[in-house]
Amino acid sequence: MSAMDGCLFCAIVADEVPADIVARTEHTVAFRDIAPQAPTHVLVVPRHHCRDALDLSANPTMAGHLLADAAEVARSLGLEPSGDDGADGGFRIVINTGSRAGQSVFHVHAHVFGGRPMAWPPG
Ligand code: AMP
Repeated sequence: MSAMDGCLFCAIVADEVPADIVARTEHTVAFRDIAPQAPTHVLVVPRHHCRDALDLSANPTMAGHLLADAAEVARSLGLEPSGDDGADGGFRIVINTGSRAGQSVFHVHAHVFGGRPMAWPPG
């Protein structure tokens, strides 16, 4: 499926809704989250509409592009682990799937969080 009517992230991919774009590749668009949960909080979305991680798993090539592009966004924003034992830097990539798991926009997206220590387990 390509763009889906009424999908916010399809509209951002198509430049119909403004967003703070960080990167565009052949396969994905990355933009800053409107309600950041960390000093750096970027969403990376496939250009083609896909509902969630389960839907994405039907297309392993696209899943690979999403992960690779999310990691490259993190690297380009200076989030690579650094220092002794990687104690500085670092980032977290999250894909919420299903409303109970925190998904609120049903166009699959990788959250890239960085710029602060991250607790584990997540809430
Ligand atoms: P999730 O809850 O995992 O589905 O993540 C959806 C994310 O999209 C949330 O973190 C929202 O803050 C974010 N969001 C919603 N609308 C926009 C928008 N117009 N531009 C950027 N981020 C948005």
